[in-house]
Amino acid sequence: MKKSNKQRRAEIKTRRLERAAASAARLREKDVRLPQTDYAFALGCEPADRSVLERYNNTYGVLPAFYEDRPFTCRDCGAEEVWTAKQQKWWYEVVHGHIDSRAARCLECRRARRERLRNAPPGANLLREQTDRLRALGDAKPTASAVAEVEAALESKWWSLRVVAI
Ligand SMILES: [Zn+2]
Repeated sequence: MKKSNKQRRAEIKTRRLERAAASAARLREKDVRLPQTDYAFALGCEPADRSVLERYNNTYGVLPAFYEDRPFTCRDCGAEEVWTAKQQKWWYEVVHGHIDSRAARCLECRRARRERLRNAPPGANLLREQTDRLRALGDAKPTASAVAEVEAALESKWWSLRVVAI
């Protein structure tokens, strides 16, 4: 019987999860004759370009020498996923994602989330717009209407808006 694409993808995913778990376990073993980085590359980890990381990633921590496939659980649907070494290299070195950031959601949940954010009503960012506006008022010369606006904000139900108003 011919396998459906969905089945095939599921099998690839399972194999990837197994491989990630196995290589993570081997990397944790202390009885390794090769230096850890050489050993990591032998396992198929991606080398990290530290010069790029140093330029774009301000951190006081130690920068990685390589990326290894990382298993993780999707925050939204709970699916077991693998953040591959290649994806990490792209995230940190091309997109310049913060060095402490980690994959949190599976592809489907990331897409769904992006869609939700895009379709959010304009009011979703209202608080942000209002605080920005208040700050601008604070920097400008006080006028009667500005004072009235700040006074209205002092009565706001939003704590953060009241703080900015003060
Ligand atoms: Zn998910």
